[in-house]
Amino acid sequence: MLPSSVKILFASQTESAEVWLPLLRQALPHDELVVLPDPSVDIALVATPPAGTFQKLGRPKLVQSLWMGVEKLLADPAYPRGVPLARLVDPGMVSAMSETVLSYVLDWHRHLYRYRMQQRGREWKRVEQRMAADRTVGLLGLGELGSDAARKLLALGFNVAGWSRRPKALAGVRCFTDLDEMLRITDALVCLLPLTPQTAGVLNARTFGMMRRAGCVINVARGAHLVARELIAALDGGQLAHAYLDVFDPEPLPANDPLWAHPGVTVTPHIAALTEPRTAVPKVAENVERVRRGETPAGLVDFEAGY
Ligand code: NDP
Repeated sequence: MLPSSVKILFASQTESAEVWLPLLRQALPHDELVVLPDPSVDIALVATPPAGTFQKLGRPKLVQSLWMGVEKLLADPAYPRGVPLARLVDPGMVSAMSETVLSYVLDWHRHLYRYRMQQRGREWKRVEQRMAADRTVGLLGLGELGSDAARKLLALGFNVAGWSRRPKALAGVRCFTDLDEMLRITDALVCLLPLTPQTAGVLNARTFGMMRRAGCVINVARGAHLVARELIAALDGGQLAHAYLDVFDPEPLPANDPLWAHPGVTVTPHIAALTEPRTAVPKVAENVERVRRGETPAGLVDFEAGY
């Protein structure tokens, strides 16, 4: 159990301290918030912390990520081993991700990417309409993000399938642990997996080849999930109609990368879902209170599974 007032470090090169600190102060008025690491910190809030941050910490009770993906923290050799790591499950970010997934699925399903191209050539031509019930969206990952997207896709009338590591049951969703079985019925494939050694490169030629023809791939998880040259080949060969890519390896996507100019690719700059401090701070505060009460924090990362 911690003393009633705790010392909390905010360390991020990507999240704005000007936005977060006033909200954190409001939610945790009796705690001390600092921006420079020192050995007496009880809880460290991090998202791409400045180099050297972990070396300057002692043994905090908790490292709380301000992001949902934690692969970089897990790979950091300076991470204080044995200190629990919690990832953030931010309701605002979950909603934002589902909105992005729905936008991309509908863009492909309603042929909007084709009409944008036709407009450039002043071409007035209708593409045959399909119903949502004709399409199956396959979700790679049925966690916080995958399960929310599944519910919203079902509400629009799509068939929804999902792949997870352990068996799952979600109302209305065809759940698989065998990837090939899901791919055989998939038209639109959405990657919402954590990046682990097991999931890196999962979006590859074999995967695309097993999907129904003329579908789409949506990668909103991590760049290293995709084998880009195999995606380009699948687009050029007509196996895939379009790809929506939000994440790249490396980021920013270099100016000379062929993905920028490929007519079958829509590129966005890692904006599928941003942490929303207004909805994230209550979750962070809840975990601080849990630690203060000596309870298990929410969203603990399984170091062995890598997410
Ligand atoms: P969760 O941990 O809640 O869910 C992960 C899902 O992936 C689970 O269903 C899990 O299976 C499944 N999974 C993991 N490994 C495997 C595997 N080897 N085989 C099959 N299924 C596997 O994560 P979230 O839904 O919260 O987030 C997913 C990822 O999205 C994050 O790790 C992050 O990288 C990315 N992200 C991207 C953002 C962006 O802006 N582009 C924003 C936010 C997150 P099981 O259920 O069995 O554990």
